[in-house]
Amino acid sequence: MLTLLKLLKDGRFHSGQALGVALGISRSAVWKQLQHLEAELGLSVHKVRGRGYQLAKPLLLLDAAEISAGGLCEWPVHIFDSIDSTNAEALRSIERGVEAPFMVLAERQIAGRGRRGRKWVSPFADNLYCSVVLRIEGGMRQIEGLSLVVGLAVMHALRDMGVSKAGLKWPNDVLVGEKKIAGILLELVGDPADVCHVVLGVGVNVNMQSTDEVDQQWTSMCLEARRDFDRNELVVRLGAKLQQYLRLHHASGFTAIQLEWEQYHLWQGRAVSLIAGVNQIDGVVMGVDRQGALRLKVDGVEKIFSGGELSLRLRDDS
Ligand code: ATP
Repeated sequence: MLTLLKLLKDGRFHSGQALGVALGISRSAVWKQLQHLEAELGLSVHKVRGRGYQLAKPLLLLDAAEISAGGLCEWPVHIFDSIDSTNAEALRSIERGVEAPFMVLAERQIAGRGRRGRKWVSPFADNLYCSVVLRIEGGMRQIEGLSLVVGLAVMHALRDMGVSKAGLKWPNDVLVGEKKIAGILLELVGDPADVCHVVLGVGVNVNMQSTDEVDQQWTSMCLEARRDFDRNELVVRLGAKLQQYLRLHHASGFTAIQLEWEQYHLWQGRAVSLIAGVNQIDGVVMGVDRQGALRLKVDGVEKIFSGGELSLRLRDDS
């Protein structure tokens, strides 16, 4: 089915006969595959008698050669047409002994995930689904604040490509105003105090224009900048930004990034509720500390909060 899609991706008309010859199948088999394409991948195909078939919109697919030609992203790239989740594939690759660093990309995720088992909506060829695997030696300092560092790198890649209002929400969301444009999910295997692997999962809404599956405010690069983007270019820029910030973090720790991170934090000084399971703490955001933990003023006293189970929400009076 995806071979057929690759023949159609230029957005031109292709006759059923030519497609059948290229694929070594009958015209009616081509027709059936087209039905599947529409149903499974949510793509729309124009069918015109005498001319053939045409995708409603040309598709720019991920392309390893284009990414490496970009020259900025040093990591080997593994691209999948369809996968459960790029983080899950990255974890399997670590298990199989694939040498890090490397990057996993997919055209779509069947079971894309956010924090605490929440779903990440991942339609075909619209967005970026990316996991970078790093091998980390030398203890906890290399992990401290890492998800904030990834958020900052993602935000800069988006800004460089024209999403000038992208900003951060602690701990690791990238927003435009109050709308989510990218999510980050870090997963770790091994002993963080010794040698471990960390998977930096990044989902960015690139060309997505509509979905009724996301249950909070969201946006995409395309909706913000009013043009389509080439995801290969985003991979190149994101790879370069991640490498830049990871190097800084490796050399000097989160301290070197703390002030810059706060500068882009959209919720600095805002009244928020910090949710931890069934508990809620109300306060005002002061910033982050040298490890990337949240500094919150609660009843006039500054308190520090960290941990993967925490979520921030704006309070109505903020
Ligand atoms: P938190 O503040 O705890 O990070 P969150 O709701 O943003 O909360 P995440 O785990 O970061 O949680 O992301 C998962 C959530 O993001 C989903 O529950 C859904 O609301 C939203 N979401 C899912 N897919 C997308 C998408 N493609 N774009 C934007 N938001 C999405």
